Amino acid sequence: MTDESHRRGDDPALDEPAERAAVHRDSLPAFEPAPEPEAPLVAEHAWGAPTQMSSELPGVPDEFQRLWTPYRMVYIQQGQMPQEHACPFCRAPELGDDEGLIVARGETCFVLLNLYPYNTGHMMVCPYRHVGMYDQATTEEVAEMAVLTQTAMRVLSQLTRCQGFNIGMNQGRIAGAGIADHLHQHIVPRWSLDSNFFPIIAKTKALPILLEDMRRDIQAAWPA
Ligand SMILES: [Zn+2]
Repeated sequence: MTDESHRRGDDPALDEPAERAAVHRDSLPAFEPAPEPEAPLVAEHAWGAPTQMSSELPGVPDEFQRLWTPYRMVYIQQGQMPQEHACPFCRAPELGDDEGLIVARGETCFVLLNLYPYNTGHMMVCPYRHVGMYDQATTEEVAEMAVLTQTAMRVLSQLTRCQGFNIGMNQGRIAGAGIADHLHQHIVPRWSLDSNFFPIIAKTKALPILLEDMRRDIQAAWPA
């Protein structure tokens, strides 16, 4: 299939997609945060001796627990989108990979992380073209969406050891599509214990990995 060559690129050093994927996979420990230069220092201070230092810091303890959600800063910093970029799926490819949450760019379609993930690693595959319904996509777009979806499954399996997936599209606002005018296929990894009491009591999802960390890991593991 021609789409296979699109994903693989022109690097002659590695001929087989599986060989390329293996190189990336072996360079990335599964589901362990990559060590950053400043990360160990922060981690030691955050987890090493909190009680000893807390009395010296400003603030009065209260009965509330804190749910730290720094991943939402992506949305806060972006702010209101200009009218000419009302469609986030049209805007995302114009941005850098990190700002657009993009993990892979194909010929007719691209893959990005969901800013509002149902689960850690929740990705979406979109055509570049602003079309809403699946039957409006071209044969080439449909084919590449399928190939990118398969690759997303393999990468998530390697990285997160997930046990299953929910994959699908909501077609039309009445069917639950949040952005109905631009076709997008959801890929949501599932684990046996990923449903907890949080969504039930507080409409809150606990997501153990920050979006940018997940995006970087997925992009690194994605076959070139
Ligand atoms: Zn669009």
